[in-house]
Amino acid sequence: MAMKLDMSKAYNRVEWIFLESIMRKMGFPGRWVELVMATIKFVSYSILINGVPRGFIKPTRGFAEVILYLPHLFLLCSEGLNGLLKEAVAAGDLRGFSLCKNGPQVSHLFFADGSLIFFRVKMGGVQSIQSTLAKYERASGQKINGTKTNLFFGKSILDSTKTDLKNFLGVPEIKEYEKYLGLPAMVGRKKKESFIYIKERIWEKLQGWKEKLLSQVGREVLLKAIVQAISTFAMSCFQLPMSLCHEIEVLIKNFFWGQCGERQKIHWKNWESLCLPKIEGGMGFKELRKFNDAMLAKQVWRLVHDKESLFYWVFKAMFFPLGDIFSTQVKSESYAWQSILKARYLIAECARYRVGSGQTAKFIRIVGYQGKGQGNSGSALGSTNEVNRKIWSSLWRLEVPNKIKTFAWRVCTKSLPTLVNLASKKVVLSNSCTSCNREPETVIHALWGCEKVAWGTNFDELCIATYQTLSFVDLFKLVLQNPHGPEGFIMVCWFI
Ligand SMILES: [Zn+2]
Repeated sequence: MAMKLDMSKAYNRVEWIFLESIMRKMGFPGRWVELVMATIKFVSYSILINGVPRGFIKPTRGFAEVILYLPHLFLLCSEGLNGLLKEAVAAGDLRGFSLCKNGPQVSHLFFADGSLIFFRVKMGGVQSIQSTLAKYERASGQKINGTKTNLFFGKSILDSTKTDLKNFLGVPEIKEYEKYLGLPAMVGRKKKESFIYIKERIWEKLQGWKEKLLSQVGREVLLKAIVQAISTFAMSCFQLPMSLCHEIEVLIKNFFWGQCGERQKIHWKNWESLCLPKIEGGMGFKELRKFNDAMLAKQVWRLVHDKESLFYWVFKAMFFPLGDIFSTQVKSESYAWQSILKARYLIAECARYRVGSGQTAKFIRIVGYQGKGQGNSGSALGSTNEVNRKIWSSLWRLEVPNKIKTFAWRVCTKSLPTLVNLASKKVVLSNSCTSCNREPETVIHALWGCEKVAWGTNFDELCIATYQTLSFVDLFKLVLQNPHGPEGFIMVCWFI
């Protein structure tokens, strides 16, 4: 059976003296412990009475105020419980649970303040759990939240035993875990349904931001920092269905180019070009499927190299007891395993061997993988030449506000709504420049060639009579050699 623990107000209750002893026991240097404790003890409270702060209360426990700066402190506290449980296992009072024959026995799994404890249904085991938890509560000041803590029983346990255990521990039972650590606990046949929550969360986030009228740069940053990160955790464990990846990408593209109510704005560049790295003229978005494969390949990599981890021991016992991950033929219902197997090819095909020193491996060892499947590699689209790379890298290194850089990117990739572009999308009928009425309004005409655009004398040496044959990128190349620097040039373009 398993027990999921929940600590009430976890950060607020930890006794300082407990934390200090744990740090000393774990061998942190004295000076370090003093510094950390000084930071925590710095806190004092006053109470607002009729709007006037009164009193000076010095607490002796809790570090909610500093947890933002020292998030790992809480892990140290869990280390105390970890020690107690290990002690109980070593003494034979507690027996963990193994997923298969010859697999390692797992007695507990901790993740931040979420803890799962596994034990056998024997009164001895249950009593030992109870006394261990009570000891931990007394020492640390933590309190187990009875209403949020719950038990999960195996199929073979009798109903009468379940009732006894529930009464004894004072904790309710849960029939099925829908999610653990934000991931679906069971992935059935309908994979898309299991992961649709990712799309829903992204959709909610985007809805929340829409009103804020962000610039394109703001949208790019939000998409990369938040939206693409939402799926990262799930992607490192499971292969998301292709159709779901596409749907999420559609949400991302639509948001990037902006939406007017129900009406979508024009996507001036296709998704593949946006996914190219910035240095190759793209926007550096992630192609979700490739990114997903790369994340899974990382797990394969861990199963090849990280032989000390619990992850390796459990997976090895279950799926490749003899041999290694590349030779195993074991099929399983576990979708996590199926996903990892699908990413095997990446490591098998793309890993490179390097001659080693002979100490770690007999002859050679795998040192890294490259090419296919790397989120941003874009190798399928062919690489642009060195000259273009130089231009892009100088563009993104310009010392101008980010929105100007994005503008410059749009200028160079011809993704500005000039009349020529609009006419090609059949938004307007005529493409001739409305200022001079002489030539089609291309990017280079609008920003440089049009007679109504007055450039100062700073860029005189750039005077090129036959600008029509040039692209803006060519012009930008010349500007890069200009002593007045490309910053001024691009700022002027922005103001035009
Ligand atoms: Zn003109």
